[in-house]
Amino acid sequence: MTSRNQQLFELSQKIIPGGVNSPVRAFKSVGGNPVFFQRGQGAHVWDVDGKSYIDYVGSWGPLILGHAHPDVVKSVQKTSENGLTFGAPTEAELEIAELICKLVPSIEQVRLVSSGTEAGMSAIRLARGFTGRNKIIKFEGCYHGHDDSLLVKAGSGALTFGNPSSAGVPQEIAGHTIVLDFNDAAGVEETFKQIGKEIAAVIVEPVAGNMNLITPKPGFLETLRSLCTQHGSVLIFDEVMTGFRVGLECAQGVYQIQPDLTTLGKVIGGGMPMAAFGGRRDIMQCLAPVGAVYQAGTLSGNPVAVAAGLTTLKLIQEPGFYENLSDTTRQLTDGLTTCAQKHGIDFCAQSIGGMFGLYFSKNIPASFAEVMACDKNGFNRFFHAMLDKGIYFAPSAFEAGFVSTTHGSKEINETLSAAENIFAAW
Ligand code: PMP
Repeated sequence: MTSRNQQLFELSQKIIPGGVNSPVRAFKSVGGNPVFFQRGQGAHVWDVDGKSYIDYVGSWGPLILGHAHPDVVKSVQKTSENGLTFGAPTEAELEIAELICKLVPSIEQVRLVSSGTEAGMSAIRLARGFTGRNKIIKFEGCYHGHDDSLLVKAGSGALTFGNPSSAGVPQEIAGHTIVLDFNDAAGVEETFKQIGKEIAAVIVEPVAGNMNLITPKPGFLETLRSLCTQHGSVLIFDEVMTGFRVGLECAQGVYQIQPDLTTLGKVIGGGMPMAAFGGRRDIMQCLAPVGAVYQAGTLSGNPVAVAAGLTTLKLIQEPGFYENLSDTTRQLTDGLTTCAQKHGIDFCAQSIGGMFGLYFSKNIPASFAEVMACDKNGFNRFFHAMLDKGIYFAPSAFEAGFVSTTHGSKEINETLSAAENIFAAW
């Protein structure tokens, strides 16, 4: 008998390209059919056939408080009763803008948008408008959304499908994007030496989370900071994933580097479509209507999304929030590592705040090339075996994973005992 899940996927493929609204959802990299979800509560999700899973994807990062957190749901319900959208300023927009500026000291002014893609695209245009230069530097395997300028050797789904540079992006646009190696400070120095005066911006995920998870080597982010300052280029931290995920001051707080602009998304919308970009006042003042760089959005600052975001940002400020989240995440990564290594499997894992990377390799990778050298088939086997046992990891070896505050010892122990069974029979 075919499952409801299978039926839905067959029908979906007839009417939605690949049956999905975002490519990595399609399970192409790991094989098999995607899971259609019906319900989520806390750390758990249920599919359309009634099977439950412990969820380590959390909608790819936003759900730091778990699914359907009662306070977030309540704020969304209450706000909706007063209207879904106005396309005009609201007081709550101001409140969340003030809160973002208070929590992230490098952000003096901020503008709300509806997706991380929009935030990245707008930050790049703003950096170009501000500097009057065209060229940007990005790093191979970093993903900043699907804007033309940024979809060059990108990570996430683009990388998963071996298509890191998309068809349909004119060479005239892609040609302005210089792609370097993450963690290769010397390569960036050399490029700046040659064409520093042409570089509008360097955009980087301060902790790369779209080619699995790679932390910055000591000195890498510092080098980016000093080169940008020296050459009048704009340093953009893409914190769509790391923002309020690795700590209350984001990755820039963890590594103590102030970018000129920051993009945020995921957590700040609490599960609703909201993102933001912000930073130095003199740069942000170049935006329309005060400045000449155009950027706009019918649903920007949508009141329902803002309500979900505000509630989330209030709750993450509770004392001990990030300590607890980091501890739980570390229990998971340490537990998986111990278990795999006990059975002689080349596996390691690491975490930062509430995000983690799992690697089928002897050592933790520190570069794109090292990530690519991990055993992808090993990951795929592990993914499916865990999925069978009701543990949902991201369906790709090139994605970071996420833990929420609703994951506790019970969920971690269940996950580790499933892994023990799988690794014992590896
Ligand atoms: N930047 C980073 C670092 C991301 O991880 C993502 C999405 N995974 C984006 C940008 C794009 O965000 P969105 O999917 O909301 O457009």
